[in-house]
Amino acid sequence: MRIVLVGPPGAGKGTQAHLLAKTLSIPHISTGDLFRANIGQGTPLGLEAKSYMDAGHLVPDEVTIGMAKDRMLQEDAANGFLLDGFPRNLGQAEALDEFLGEQGIKLDGVLDLEVPEDEVVKRIAGRRLCRNDGGHVFHVDYNPPKAEGVCDECGGELYQRSDDTEEKVRTRLEVYHTETEPIIGYYKEQGLLVTIPALGKVDEVTARAIEALKQDS
Ligand code: ADP
Repeated sequence: MRIVLVGPPGAGKGTQAHLLAKTLSIPHISTGDLFRANIGQGTPLGLEAKSYMDAGHLVPDEVTIGMAKDRMLQEDAANGFLLDGFPRNLGQAEALDEFLGEQGIKLDGVLDLEVPEDEVVKRIAGRRLCRNDGGHVFHVDYNPPKAEGVCDECGGELYQRSDDTEEKVRTRLEVYHTETEPIIGYYKEQGLLVTIPALGKVDEVTARAIEALKQDS
């Protein structure tokens, strides 16, 4: 399966993507995680991305599209992938369509996670990520780790992202409305969109997502 996940920052894309990818046996491709890995390793791409990310803005398409394509071309993604955080504007959505066309493949569905805006801010303020590469995400109140500051799944150190402050979340939400929301209409026209409410327990949302994707495909 080839799936795109959309939704505002804090909708739970990372959390759901991790669980869905495991259930569907496809790799979870998060452009945000790829940028953070590059920043961690101090690569030129990471250095370029960091200033945009810290300001809550999008990283330019020239950088993002190439990085996403390289990742989709890796061997583990040959039979499917779950894209999280890409595409994030119409230009990227069109570039993705062009890439898929060249590869002779198609998307199976676009899953849109709907969450009220005040909930988004609460979720982001309490969010903690694992420093290791597994994409594990926790929340101090809603999905707390068994031991504070330690990842349940791999024992990695948990940290708070530098763009997860309330002020930056407001900017990211604005960017989401102006840049990313238009892709929802774009995929609706293509008959690919499935929208689900992303409120409730983590595993309830996952079950809802799996059900919605099954009905769609
Ligand atoms: P969230 O969905 O919570 O905003 P992500 O980890 O997906 O978190 O993204 C964090 C930041 O990385 C974004 O605010 C943006 O600066 C950058 N980024 C991620 N994906 C893209 C993309 N497809 N295009 C441009 N910038 C991106």
